[in-house]
Amino acid sequence: MKIYQKKTELSNAEYREVLDEIYGDVEICGMMFSSGSALQELDETAFESGKSEHESALDSESLIWVCGACGEEHEGKRGEESAEECCKADAEAASDEEELKK
Ligand SMILES: [Zn+2]
Repeated sequence: MKIYQKKTELSNAEYREVLDEIYGDVEICGMMFSSGSALQELDETAFESGKSEHESALDSESLIWVCGACGEEHEGKRGEESAEECCKADAEAASDEEELKK
């Protein structure tokens, strides 16, 4: 049974919201800007690397294991275990079915 870990992927818009929540608005020359869009505009490299750091932080907080056979997601402490158990019983039947579809 193949299981794999699901990686978190944030869109730029989602990461801008994360930054806005942490840093709020910034004032530049008397004008208010959202800090998320400001960083993305001013330093896209910093924005991108902050985004991938945040993604790995989210991954280490909550691992999501995906059953390779049915694609079902299993979270939580026993996620890895329950993903492994997920299609164990009918694993052979499922792979036969897969073969037939091809
Ligand atoms: Zn499954």
